[in-house]
Amino acid sequence: MSVSAPPEEVLDVLRRQDPEVADVLSGEARRQAETLQLIAAENFTSPAVLAALGSPLANKYAEGYPGARYHGGCEYADAAERIAVERATALFGADHANLQPHSGSSAVLAAYAALLRPGDTVLAMGLEHGGHLTHGSPANFSGRWFDFVPYGVDPETGLIDYEQVAALARHHRPTAIVCGSISYPRHPDYALFRAVADEVGAYLVADAAHPIGLVAGGAAPNPVPYADVVCATTHKVLRGPRGGMVLCTAELAERIDRAVFPFTQGGAQMHTIAAKAVALGEASTPAFTAYAHRVVEHARVLAAALAAEGFALTTGGTDTHLITADPAPLGVDGRTARARLSAAGMVLDTCALPHGDGRGIRLGTAAVTTQGMGAPEMARIAALFTSALRGEPEETARVRAEVRELTRSFPPYGR
Ligand SMILES: *Cc1c(COP(=O)(O)O)cnc(C)c1O
Repeated sequence: MSVSAPPEEVLDVLRRQDPEVADVLSGEARRQAETLQLIAAENFTSPAVLAALGSPLANKYAEGYPGARYHGGCEYADAAERIAVERATALFGADHANLQPHSGSSAVLAAYAALLRPGDTVLAMGLEHGGHLTHGSPANFSGRWFDFVPYGVDPETGLIDYEQVAALARHHRPTAIVCGSISYPRHPDYALFRAVADEVGAYLVADAAHPIGLVAGGAAPNPVPYADVVCATTHKVLRGPRGGMVLCTAELAERIDRAVFPFTQGGAQMHTIAAKAVALGEASTPAFTAYAHRVVEHARVLAAALAAEGFALTTGGTDTHLITADPAPLGVDGRTARARLSAAGMVLDTCALPHGDGRGIRLGTAAVTTQGMGAPEMARIAALFTSALRGEPEETARVRAEVRELTRSFPPYGR
């Protein structure tokens, strides 16, 4: 599903006025087009989303909510936000949606602000097992203001240890339980989390920042029927602008809205909300459903090919768009792997490994699938990984040239 209208045209306006910044932006456009974007959290938005982001709605202040603003002249801002909210509630079957959070972390902050008081106990996946910073890192507000109890994955299977989740919940009686991860390649068992939350009288918060795009396309289970609050981003598999979103029950709607504004944010970014509306419109189409299923199929193909090359896959595979792997069997750690792959034009992240020493690599298939790559390209990418990991300069140069050729055949913004 490659898209037309290269962003280069948009840059022409800037080039005339500020060549210094224009050069930086066109350099970034070239970098995205000429290297493989395998960061699991990234994607290519459509030109329509970029157009909304670059629109004059960027100039508008609109504190408050549609019909109840603290500023004048909000009729079009209201219309944009109403469309975004309607599309989100319809697409995910939620009672209520708030599209104002500036990011995924802001969405989580709002959820905690709505449900918790400082010092409350929260059960969430431990950071070394795949939890996000907002799931209790001492470097983040979450770890500073709340008492996080971590659950983890089984050392043998790499799967969430649900017996541990239930035992910790019974022992600590948390106010909220968080499910969702930055690197877990399987779906949380939302029904099971719900049952545990009900047993101990806790709220269930699903942080679906990663899989929400798969949910939109029917390629992942929907947490909305199970969770009291669902936090998400709009820029990962969902392919929208950078930003966050909160979905919740009718009962919590007012608390969530007040937790976003005025408790944790001021004026919303209305151009971003318009771009979220565009992305949600795109995500409601049959084409996006097909896309989401292709993303998962490609991750499975790539995972199997990487396993065949010798990578040790967390949980042995994937049900999602992302793959977590330990490259140790190939003689390198995650950091070295990321550096060598990057030198060969393949961009991805390192991540914590639940029970190993050192770090692994985390990658995803959302962006390459948007470019129109298919299963044969996934197999080719796995082979390129192994070649690049040897770290021999000549071979790295050869892989880089092959990556360049591959990306030329699948330009992210068409030709
Ligand atoms: C990406 C992510 C976030 C945060 O999103 P930002 O927009 O970077 O703040 C939060 N939680 C999880 C599980 C994520 O994967």
